[in-house]
Order: sequence, then structure tokens, then C-alpha cells
Amino acid sequence: MNFRYSLNLKEEGIKMKSKYVDLKLNMDLNRIKEAAMYIKKGKIVLFPTETVYGIGANALDEKAVNKVFEAKGRASDNPLIVHIANIDMLNNLVQGIGEIEEKLINNFWPGPLTIIFNRKECVPNNVTAGLNTVGIRMPSNKIARKLIEFANLPIAAPSANISGRPSGTKIEDIIEELNGKVDYILDSGIVDIGLESTVIRVIKNKVHILRPGKITVQDIENLGIDVIVEKQIMEECNPKEKVMSPGMKYRHYAPNTKCLLIYSDNEDKLIDRINEEINLEKNILVLGKTSHLDKYNTNSKLDMGESLEDISKNIFTLLRKVDSYNVDLVVIEGVKSEGLGLAIMNRLIRACEHNYIEVN
Ligand code: AMP
Ligand code: MG
Repeated sequence: MNFRYSLNLKEEGIKMKSKYVDLKLNMDLNRIKEAAMYIKKGKIVLFPTETVYGIGANALDEKAVNKVFEAKGRASDNPLIVHIANIDMLNNLVQGIGEIEEKLINNFWPGPLTIIFNRKECVPNNVTAGLNTVGIRMPSNKIARKLIEFANLPIAAPSANISGRPSGTKIEDIIEELNGKVDYILDSGIVDIGLESTVIRVIKNKVHILRPGKITVQDIENLGIDVIVEKQIMEECNPKEKVMSPGMKYRHYAPNTKCLLIYSDNEDKLIDRINEEINLEKNILVLGKTSHLDKYNTNSKLDMGESLEDISKNIFTLLRKVDSYNVDLVVIEGVKSEGLGLAIMNRLIRACEHNYIEVN
């Protein structure tokens, strides 16, 4: 079969084994319809959302969902988020939507918020990993919405990456690991946010944050709702401890190279501490904020960007790059664990496998 190439991928000499469509310049609705037909037929489609790319399957088709687990090498006890395009789809999948959930839906959907609900019988067991709850999200990305609407089906979709690797925020980063493992690829360039959705569950009128994301603690508190941040999002999970969200248990985002996360509220102290590390190790790579880079006594450094939004957009691409530098240690600048910073630190702490120093 002959598949179309984007210029970039062609230049890199990558031979496409999945059907590939480049939507960067033109949102070709006929192609999205074609991808939706793939979903209807039980095939799996790599598609963009505003958070990260996803690998989607018909959420009501157990066999199709299994293909997603196989493509990613994902543990069967790690449930998938179901993506919907309208509230009718939600009502078909879940029961007992409370007032707080309604408030969250009205304020944050479509958008990067996943809400855990009690599921109905029609949701296959493999989607929820046997739980009686299901995570649902209505994405705002236009291509994702069209794909769900054209398929007229809820789409179960985890992040596009082999399990344990950083999530895919652009096709170039993930093509090697997923080429041929998915049936169809919709490429729309780099995603908007770059970190996966905030995952929450309402228990006794309080919102529990199970995974931090672009929708922040403050965003939810601003609606007059009490928020509890699960301590496990920043801590190493004891394998015997019960977790509220199975994803918390797994090794995630970590490069093969050893990584160290350093943070201080005081910028000078942060930079001094990282320079100390540079002086100790011979072969080190630093990931730092744009405005800090020229303060590090090394040429081996990568630019994370300046704002939290920049960092969130760049971080997975950078984490994928570091192994190619063949260094002994990667030192990563932390950010304040507030607002979007909480989501960034949650991913970075896991990327560094809890190898973290906070300087007072
Ligand atoms: P990913 O698909 O890679 O973005 O990961 C989705 C994450 O959402 C999983 O790792 C779970 O931790 C969480 N999740 C999905 N469904 C549920 C659920 N029913 N209960 C608790 N957490 C869930
Ligand atoms: Mg994931």
C-alpha cells in the first residue's frame, strides 16, 4: 500500500506503515470521516487532542479496545479515559451525575478535565480495568470532536506512547514507537497544552485531584468547591497501598538516563545548586528555563521555555531527547508546585523517579 507522507517525516526517511494524513495546513473533513470509519470498523486511530495525542478505539467494542492495550503494551489494570462529543453520550455511559459534576461540566467541558463517574453496564470491562467507575472527558480539540461526531461513538483513548514513555505531543516524537501499531494517524502538528488532562473524582461533595493538569486546584476552588489533592500524586506509591487512580502506580515518563529534579523558591539558590552539580559531574545535561540558561557553567543544556505554558508544551519532547545526549546525569529545574506548576512537577518527579532535591 502507498501512504501519504508529510514533508518532515519524509525528510527523516521514515517509511509509513500506518495510514497517515497530514492535517497541519488543512483540516480535511473527508480524511477525518475516513478515520471515523476506521473507528466504526473496530480499528485504532492516533489523533490529536488539546492535551496530548491519543490512541483511540470504539469505547463500546471490547476487541477494538484490546488493540489499544496491545499497541501501547499497557497493563490491563490501568483504565482508559472515554472521550465524548456531547452530553447524550455521557448519559449513555454513566449514572448518578451529581450537582458538583454538573457544575464542573458546565464550566470546564469541552476541555482538559476528566471526571470519574459510576459506569453503566454497556461500558466494557477492559475500558475501566474492571472498576465500576469510568473516566470521561469531552475534548475541545476540533479534530478530536469531529472524529467522535463522525464515528457517532464514544472513543476510549489513552495517551499516544508506549507505556512508561513520555506522552506524545507531536507525531515526530512517537512515530518510531507507534508506526505500524495503529491503523490510522491524524497529524495536526504540536498539541496546545502538552500535558494530559486533570483527572478528578467527586467524593462526599469534595473534588479529589487524582492527576493534576491544565485545569488547576484554583480553577475548581473558584467555583466554590472544596478540593483535595491526593498526596500520592507527588509521592512514591507503595505497591501494597490502595490508590484511587491505577495510573499512579506505574513507572512513567522516565528517560533511561538518570535524572535529578532540583527546585528552590529562591532563583539564585536554584541556579547555584545546579551549578554545584555541574562542577561535580563530568558529563551532565541541564534542562532549564530560557532566562536561566546562560547562568549555567556548561554548554550541555536544553531550553524548557519561560512560562509554565511553554514548559508544559515542551517537556515531553525534551524528556524524549535526553537519552541521545549520552550523559551521566540530567539535571532538571523544578517549578513552583502551584497552578499548572503542580501538573509539571507531578510529571517531572516521576520522570526523575523521585530523585528530587528541594533547596531552602
Ligand atoms: P492516560 O490514558 O495515559 O491519560 O491515563 C489515564 C489515567 O486516568 C489512568 O492511568 C488512570 O489513572 C486514570 N483513570 C482512568 N479511568 C479511571 C477510573 N475509572 N478511576 C480512576 N482513575 C482512572
Ligand atoms: Mg498515558
